[in-house]
Amino acid sequence: MPKKRLNFRYFIHKFKEEKMKKVALHNLGCKVNAYETEAMQELLEKEGYEIVPFKEGADIYIINTCTVTNMADRKSRQMLHRAKKMNPNAIVVAAGCYVQAKSESKETDESIDIIIGNNKKQDLISILKEYQEKHDGIQKEIIDINHTKEYEELHLSKTAEHTRAYLKVQDGCNQFCTYCIIPYARGRVRSREKENVVAEVKQLVANGYQEVVLTGIHLSSYGVDLQGEDLLSLILAVNEIEGLKRIRLGSLEPRIITEEFAKTISGLEKICPHFHLSLQSGCNGTLKRMNRRYTAEEYFEKCELLRKYFDNPALTTDVIVGFPGETEEEFEESRAFVEKVNFYETHIFKYSRREGTKAAVMENQVPEQIKTKRSNILLELDERKRKEYEEKFIGKTVEVLMEEEVEKEGKRYQTGHTKEYIKVALESDENMQNQLVKIKIDNHSQIIR
Ligand code: SF4
Repeated sequence: MPKKRLNFRYFIHKFKEEKMKKVALHNLGCKVNAYETEAMQELLEKEGYEIVPFKEGADIYIINTCTVTNMADRKSRQMLHRAKKMNPNAIVVAAGCYVQAKSESKETDESIDIIIGNNKKQDLISILKEYQEKHDGIQKEIIDINHTKEYEELHLSKTAEHTRAYLKVQDGCNQFCTYCIIPYARGRVRSREKENVVAEVKQLVANGYQEVVLTGIHLSSYGVDLQGEDLLSLILAVNEIEGLKRIRLGSLEPRIITEEFAKTISGLEKICPHFHLSLQSGCNGTLKRMNRRYTAEEYFEKCELLRKYFDNPALTTDVIVGFPGETEEEFEESRAFVEKVNFYETHIFKYSRREGTKAAVMENQVPEQIKTKRSNILLELDERKRKEYEEKFIGKTVEVLMEEEVEKEGKRYQTGHTKEYIKVALESDENMQNQLVKIKIDNHSQIIR
């Protein structure tokens, strides 16, 4: 008798499983999260699930959430609610950083059926099966992320972009900047084995990708938990891969730029001379309150080192305005520093209070209208510096990795990026996607955003 009941339950479960095959995924946040979303998609595809657009309506919704700011939390929550509204009978999976941070408070959210924290995304398929079998209330899969040393292996053989693949090589952060919640949601530094990175790049190259972007939560820490490895040894190994044409580096911590690092990578033809060195402020007092572990002077030296070894590299950065206690003088110090460095691109963020961080409870929070004013000043500076940098390419012939075809005012253009990440358009009817093309830039209108 019990055996018969079991068979009946098995039949019901199989029936449900067969029916629930349409999955929609939605990513929020950074490139690391995007990598993990695409890797989860590959896991699902291998199991025979059908991936559908979010709006089409699905049986299972997977939201890979973000918690970097209070706004990111809100957006994550909204997407989860939207998914449940789209189909009240769907299984809604809340994955990643938003649920990892303070997971208990998410258990009462009725739109969530399954919670999957960081380092558990690789188990997605078995978690879904278990849930469909039991189906008794919310299922929670969270580990103590602050004490794990395990790097979660996920795999990617293709991405939504057809020419450039973002590759996750590292997770976690040990820096604890005072405004950032990420170390609490992602845990300590864990690096991917070099052999696994190399194997994945080879697979991507075999699938037609010519450019990879090495990314991580704190990429510069790559290897600190591995024997005898660091970011430089990883770059050298990836550089050896035949058929790969370009290696781009994700956001770097300025301190990684040493004479040896800059000199060695400048000798590698595949390295893109495009370096994103996270600055956050050009004022030493503010940097100290942020717990950034360099001074503006040290940062400047790193930029000079890159300029010594690379011809006109594209230096890009992030700057926060209105950090608690930032006075007019401090802001002016930061602005003058940004002006002095001559960045190609500055991403400007108004400081946003993140609950659970030291900076959120600091004194002298800066009013919103002052943040806006400072942000506008830097936006104007960014626009000017960007143009100045781009001007240097006019009259030159550059190599562009063609990505997509766009139509404007009845004309067709092929567009792509140079190694410096300048977007260039060529008027042509011929689809050149994934070709490396030499283009002479005659005027500024060929440079687009
Ligand atoms: S380096 Fe600082 S800003 Fe970047 S993830 Fe770590 S704590 Fe956050």
